[in-house]
Amino acid sequence: MKLNRRAFLQWLGVAGAGLALPACVHGRGGGGERRVVVAGAGLAGLTAAYELVKLGYDVTVLEAQSRTGGRVRTHRDGFSAGQYAELGAVRIPDVHEHTLGYAKELDLPLVEFASGEALYYLKGQRFMHREGQPWPLELTPREQQRGLGMASEYIAAAMEECGDPRAGTFPRPGALAKYDGITLDRYLLSRGASADWLRLYMAEHSSDIPTTSALAGMAYEAADRHWERTFHIRGGNEQLPQALARRLGDRVRLEHVVVRIEHDARGVRVWYRHGGRTESLQAAHLVCALPFPLLREVELLPVFSEDKMRALRELVMAPSARLWMQTRTRFWKAEGIGGLKIAKTDTPVERLWDLSSVQDGTPGMVMSYMDDANARAFSAVPEAQRSEYVLRHVERFFPNIRSEAVAFHGKSWAEDPWVRGAWPAMQPGQAWMLPVVRRPEGRVHFAGEHTSLWAGWMQGAIESGKRVVREIQGMG
Ligand SMILES: Cc1cc2nc3c(=O)[nH]c(=O)nc-3n(C[C@H](O)[C@H](O)[C@H](O)COP(=O)(O)OP(=O)(O)OC[C@H]3O[C@@H](n4cnc5c(N)ncnc54)[C@H](O)[C@@H]3O)c2cc1C
Repeated sequence: MKLNRRAFLQWLGVAGAGLALPACVHGRGGGGERRVVVAGAGLAGLTAAYELVKLGYDVTVLEAQSRTGGRVRTHRDGFSAGQYAELGAVRIPDVHEHTLGYAKELDLPLVEFASGEALYYLKGQRFMHREGQPWPLELTPREQQRGLGMASEYIAAAMEECGDPRAGTFPRPGALAKYDGITLDRYLLSRGASADWLRLYMAEHSSDIPTTSALAGMAYEAADRHWERTFHIRGGNEQLPQALARRLGDRVRLEHVVVRIEHDARGVRVWYRHGGRTESLQAAHLVCALPFPLLREVELLPVFSEDKMRALRELVMAPSARLWMQTRTRFWKAEGIGGLKIAKTDTPVERLWDLSSVQDGTPGMVMSYMDDANARAFSAVPEAQRSEYVLRHVERFFPNIRSEAVAFHGKSWAEDPWVRGAWPAMQPGQAWMLPVVRRPEGRVHFAGEHTSLWAGWMQGAIESGKRVVREIQGMG
């Protein structure tokens, strides 16, 4: 159904108030085919709801928390000068057309991260690297010449074999057999990468390459291979889900925890807990935009097909963690250090990113970004001692950090009760899951970054939300 003029005008006037359609979903008769329940008001669920409402569907979104946005979370408390931390999504690559498209559609201005020189702290050596200079590392002659540019050489070699995720040809069967069973670090070593180059690569990107599947790593690299510039929503990325939620108005019900899904060929009944009561909604379709660790706890009647249940059990979430520090000044600039990634290290605090480069005011806003074993080690430290833990490592390469840091905020995503991890950490041998996690089960449709090739990105959440809308439309 296309929006008629009246509905379109209503749509234009919704900011803050929501569309004036009935908020409740009951029964299947009398237009019930267009009733949809969405579980989860992260970016994926909100996208699905927003696009469905545009098409005239009658949508209710059930969200467990008292806020929308899930992993897109801008934290302001405790920081001065109007500055903020991003606990989840920070970057919007110029190749993420879905995220950029929404920023434009929702009228959210962007700001670009400037490039700059990072400080390296590797094997106990503190240095900056200028183009053409030798690296103080044991690299192959070609790695010495090209530095991190070797990533495209090592990975591009397999990309042709793997197929193109954007063209729907990924992964080709040959690649599946060859690259699914090994980790990304093993693959890189097999291509001739030196151990020190891996150290450099991890300091740049993430320490998780010894545990993630080579094929998954290649999917992410291939999908974004033309990425050059990086953006952010001016004033904080959380404005994106907030803008969607505003347009949905009272269709979004907060503190509604989905606990049971009943489904058959004709429709769904979704049970939720709210204010001490358990109630249900009936609809023609359910968009399930819950992270898998939470969906595991929802009672399913009947259970989904065997491979879907296996994926639900076996999908592993990465334990990413961050500690944000507001600093009195942007002291690193005195050394000519700049850009988003100001320090790349092989210490337990991994990488330091500077978000003040896209914020006003004189203080700095830096975070230590830890993955995998480093994130687990950070999360094992009692919460009250986590700032001290990070300071102790950071002062090895920024000796003045103690006198500079004035406010802190930590986030361990593995501890977040509504996600229990940051994004899927695809293990070797798990490529079979890629098509299974997103496949609908009758009238239950699966959205969420974990169902997209852009897992771990807002782009993946938005893309998946749009995909389930096409699925629902396809069912009439
Ligand atoms: C550390 C980190 C860094 C990131 N960096 C970037 C980045 O730089 N750029 C980028 O584009 N993306 C980034 N991302 C990824 C991006 O934030 C996510 O891909 C995206 O926000 C996921 O959206 P989602 O809707 O799939 O899931 P979520 O945001 O997790 O939403 C799921 C929702 O379901 C709700 N829920 C859970 N259980 C229930 C239940 N039983 N009943 C009802 N509701 C429930 C949750 O409360 C939540 O609101 C990052 C993520 C993290 C964690």
